[in-house]
Order: sequence, then structure tokens, then C-alpha cells
Amino acid sequence: MIPDAEAREHVLSRCTVLPAMRTPLADLIGLVLAEPVVAGEDVPPFVNSAVDGYAVRAADVAAAPVELVVVGEVAAGGHTTREVGPGEAIRIMTGAPMPAGADASVMVEDTERLNGGSRVRINRPIEPGVAVRDVGDDVRAGTELFPVGTVVTPAVAGVLASVNVREALAIRRPRVAVLSTGDELVDDGSPLQPGQIRESNKTMLVGLVAAAGCEAVDLGIVRDDEPALEAVLRDAAGTCDAIVTSGGVSMGDYDVVKAVLSRIADMRWMQIAIKPAKPFAFGLLAATDGRQVPVFGLPGNPVSSLVSFELFARPALRLMAGHADVDRPTLLAVAAEPLSRRPDGKTHYVRVRGEFGADGRYRVRSVGGQGSHQLAATATAHALAVLPDGDGVPAGGDVTAILIAL
Ligand code: AMP
Ligand code: MG
Repeated sequence: MIPDAEAREHVLSRCTVLPAMRTPLADLIGLVLAEPVVAGEDVPPFVNSAVDGYAVRAADVAAAPVELVVVGEVAAGGHTTREVGPGEAIRIMTGAPMPAGADASVMVEDTERLNGGSRVRINRPIEPGVAVRDVGDDVRAGTELFPVGTVVTPAVAGVLASVNVREALAIRRPRVAVLSTGDELVDDGSPLQPGQIRESNKTMLVGLVAAAGCEAVDLGIVRDDEPALEAVLRDAAGTCDAIVTSGGVSMGDYDVVKAVLSRIADMRWMQIAIKPAKPFAFGLLAATDGRQVPVFGLPGNPVSSLVSFELFARPALRLMAGHADVDRPTLLAVAAEPLSRRPDGKTHYVRVRGEFGADGRYRVRSVGGQGSHQLAATATAHALAVLPDGDGVPAGGDVTAILIAL
């Protein structure tokens, strides 16, 4: 058995960042910028009102309450050439350009409409500049908004839209083939025959791949048949950036993934000192165009599949997508109950639920069933509690928690 840190290092050191592509704004969310973005425009592009109300000369209302003559109106998207002279006001809406002459916007709540709108009473004095948004208040043209390596969040995409960046150079979203293997698996809804079970890993892994920011390509169930599996894998290498398989990587007689990949790819078959997810395989499969396509051979037991995806495949896919930070957030939690285990030479990744206490600490307790086939219990977990080899952690003890679902 090898330590999980060694397996992780082995995997990460063999994966490389994918090439960058010019990408339209609508497709940028979740991707990593491969060029800095410099603002070509000011935001806001013109001086405008921050409130619905009246554009005034602050000096005119210093002795409020005062009455002003309303000489015009301007809405968002409109503009007026009428200047606000002494004793005058212009009715203005949020986002409308400030008329010349005015230097403050009085919110409508501080005013009273008179004479059917031809006059207004201003009930409070106002400082010059109040409720006026200056040109470039948000973004100044010429500034570097986002450096290389920025992850395009929805808010970042909004900023790009605000300065008319319609496309950018970004690391390509990894296309990841997902397949499960096993003669026992059924996914078409048909009644189970003796020995059959419902397929679950592929559905889960397609979701995990997508949640990791990749494009998942569902290749279905491949039977325990070497020629069929070889054809599917070679095809996947030609069209995808990585391949995730589930099942068939342990010591069984029908572990065809092991048989086929040993022959056609440069693989390392690992026994990792962790529980769950001891068997794991990683390697590179050469595509016909010369690319070396990473292959992640996850174990078939559903919980093992999930844990080895989290520990080894997800960081590697994030690396390929150009993320500097490839890991889930981790925090030092408190065991709300004893998290017991026995020494066995392995690190245990115990599925836990957690909540933040009033003291700000994250308190975790086991989800219950910790068997590698008990996906239903695991599905309720927020985190993986890391229990190093030994006897576990007593109630109140510190435990590292990897947040997988927060
Ligand atoms: P294997 O790694 O192929 O020996 O499978 C280990 C265990 O996981 C067996 O009980 C399989 O039936 C089960 N298993 C394998 N693949 C899947 C899958 N895609 N969905 C649900 N269970 C699976
Ligand atoms: Mg199998």
C-alpha cells in the first residue's frame, strides 16, 4: 500500500493544463482566464443619479425646506440638454444622466410634489455630490480588471459584460468521458434479474465531473468484455481530455478494466492506504493524435468511487482546467461525537455531517453507515473527516474536515 499523498502526487505530476481558447462571454463562467482583462471603457460611462428624485443645485437647498421650479424630467436611457439654473430642479430617475448645472440628487422621499408637478418642495438640505455616481466610479478605462488565472464567476462575467468584453482567452473546459463497467449493472429501468443491481456510479460521476467545472461525456455501461471496453476507451481518448472509469480495477477475475488498460495504456495500479477506496488506477492513454489522455480507474463500490474521485480525480481535472487551487476547502473541525476506528495502516475518510456552532467551530458527526456500498448514507455527508491511522478522535477532539458539499 502507498500513502494517499503519494498517489495524489503521482496523478497531479502527470496531468497538464489544457490549451487556452478564445471563448465567448456566455461560455466563460467557471473557466480560468489565460490572458489579463483590461477595461476598455469607464463604468459608469457618464455621471448619473443614484436615486429617483430631483437633480438640484445643492447651494439652492442649503436652507431647506425650499421650493424649486421643475423645468424638466429625465429617465434612465434618456438625456436632457436643459440646464438646471438657480431655483430650478429636474425630475430624475435612477441611472439617468445628471443634467448640467445640477450637482446633487434629492431622493423623492425627501420631496413633495406641488402644483401638479410644476414645482417641488425639497424638505432637507443636501451636500454637493450626494446620490451622484461619477464616471469610472466602478471601473476606470485602462485598468487591469482581472489577472491571468482568475476564475470567471458569475460576478466576474457581469463585470466583463459591463465593460463590453465579449470574449476572452480561457483554458478550455476539460471534456471528460465517464463510463461504468460490469455485467451486473442495469440502467434501463427493467426488472432486476438474479444477480443484477441498478447502476449508480455513472450518474454520480457525471454529476461530480460537471460540478468540478468539466463537460461530462456519458459513455454508458460497458460490459465485462475486453474488446468492447478497448474500443470504447480508444474512442474516448480520441474525443476527450480525460477518462473516468468505475469498476474492474481490483483483484477479481472479471476486472476487465485492469486487463485492457494494462495492455493499451501506461498505467499504475495502486493499493492506497485509505479506507474506503483502496484500489485505484491512474495512467495515460495515447490518442491517435499523440495526446496523452489521463485515465482515472475508480473502484466500483459506489462510496469508494466517490472518495477516490474526490481525492485524486477532481484535483487533477481542476489542474487541467487551469485552477491554481485544485482542492476542496478544508477546515479544522470538532468531533461532536467520538469518531472511532481501529489501527490498520490506513487513513480513514469518514463521511460526516457538520454544522457551525455559536463558537464558530464546525462540529461534525458520522452519517452512519460507513460501508463502501452504503451510498445513501454518504449522500447526506457534508464533509470527509480525515482520521489518521490509530484509534480515532474522541468527542471534542480536533479533526480535519474536507468540505465536499457546502
Ligand atoms: P468492481 O470494482 O467492479 O469489482 O465492483 C465492486 C462492487 O461495486 C461490486 O459490488 C459491483 O457490483 C459494484 N459496482 C460496480 N460498478 C458499479 C456501478 N456503476 N454502480 C453501482 N455499483 C457498482
Ligand atoms: Mg466489476
